[in-house]
Amino acid sequence: ATSMLWFRRDLRLADHPALAAAAAAGPVLPVFVLDPGLLASAGPVRTHCLLDAVRHLRRSTDGALVVRTGDPAEVVPRLAREAGAGSVHVSAETTPYGRRRDDRVRAALGPVELVATGSPYVVTPGRIRSASGDPYQVFSPFYRAWLEQGWSEPEGRPRGLRWAPPVDSEEVPASPLDGVPDAPELPEVSEAAAQERYQLFVDRLLGSYPTDRDRPDRDGTSQLSVHLKYGTVHPRTLLAPLRRAASAAGEKAVDRFRSELAWRDFYADVVWHRPDSVWSDLKPTLATIEYDEPGEQLQAWCAGRTGYPVVDAGMRQLLGAGWMHNRVRMITASFLVKDLHLWWPHGARHFLRHLRDGDVASNNHGWQWVAGTGTDPSPYFRVFNPVTQGRKFDPRGDYVRRWVPELRHVPGADVHEPWTVEGGYDHGYPQRIVDHGHERAEALRRYELARG
Ligand code: FAD
Repeated sequence: ATSMLWFRRDLRLADHPALAAAAAAGPVLPVFVLDPGLLASAGPVRTHCLLDAVRHLRRSTDGALVVRTGDPAEVVPRLAREAGAGSVHVSAETTPYGRRRDDRVRAALGPVELVATGSPYVVTPGRIRSASGDPYQVFSPFYRAWLEQGWSEPEGRPRGLRWAPPVDSEEVPASPLDGVPDAPELPEVSEAAAQERYQLFVDRLLGSYPTDRDRPDRDGTSQLSVHLKYGTVHPRTLLAPLRRAASAAGEKAVDRFRSELAWRDFYADVVWHRPDSVWSDLKPTLATIEYDEPGEQLQAWCAGRTGYPVVDAGMRQLLGAGWMHNRVRMITASFLVKDLHLWWPHGARHFLRHLRDGDVASNNHGWQWVAGTGTDPSPYFRVFNPVTQGRKFDPRGDYVRRWVPELRHVPGADVHEPWTVEGGYDHGYPQRIVDHGHERAEALRRYELARG
């Protein structure tokens, strides 16, 4: 019988358990639904990346992929009827929005079964539990248990995969960046591009990953986050080559990279157990801390005009490239929470809109980690100093000069302190909106008060 494969965060054909399950049942109608509810929260770069992945997927299905716009609870059952599909296959979705949506779709499908096989994670959220049966609250024991699960070897495209006769499809919409002057050059989001980048990373970058991963001035990380976000590669597919890479790159580098993939699984697991933690504090420890109301300072932060060079470079990289280096995500997030005294969701929402890898679990729990309200939190009293951090992780100032043109005339690491450089403000770089030393003391004062 014909079955349907409803693609969501799994826009690929290789190593795809749900597609394999659908193919085993007979010819497959491949479908992607453009859900206006989801697109509303995405900025132009994120939307561009999604549409790019859909366009490439359509190409690799030889045009068989059916694209429709609308509420999935209406579109999916209608397509199932049009195709005479006996079942609809998906990769399990674990975000609060995805779970609610799938419940509605399941109800609307009636007798046609919604079959979930696999998920966008190495280990499906909810599966790893401690000996007492509870979910893990901190990363290290989760990671040990995660490693013990082991994982199967990746598989290619399902054997015997046949597409069902086509039904009407919309065109993939044009990218919102088409025709926009100065639109950023973005990497292709496709299965082939994911494989190519991963090969380059393993061959050339993995060996120095333990140190270079903290250097925003270098291309030292995998840059696979957009691929993991849209599922142009499955994380399990990345694990097998790692074992073989260990002899060249070193066990430490391999373990470091593997543990980053496990962090992604961990945060998804936390969200599975605590869906409420997406937009509110996971832990009540700072429930009474005093935050300021967002205003002009939030706008300056969003625009990359705080007067702190590494913060501004990061915020402009976010707007320009739809990506920000992990170290700088931590620095800019700390600045919002501890220098501007704003509640983390104000910053998390801006990140989510613009990051091409924007993901509610990794993003919002990354924010909570910095804010001291999440799992394994960084202690609240640890306040990042943007100047020290800049000098340490961008030691020649190249990262700042790349993203902040008004400071390109300042040589070396002094670019992190334009107030010490004669002529530092000659090209319009803004003055500091707050004094870091003062705000650090203020953050600690509020923290002590909240702790009683
Ligand atoms: P690499 O260093 O090459 O890591 C490989 C992969 O491991 C990443 O692609 C990602 O899938 C995963 N990973 C790495 N670090 C983390 C982490 N700390 N938490 C969870 N997964 C991780 N990551 C997102 O994918 N989406 C987000 O929306 C997101 N928002 C963040 C917000 C803040 C405030 C912070 C501090 C971190 C956030 N991260 C997020 C985690 C991390 O910054 C990015 O995954 C990483 O920068 C992506 O670049 P990369 O693929 O080159 O990473």
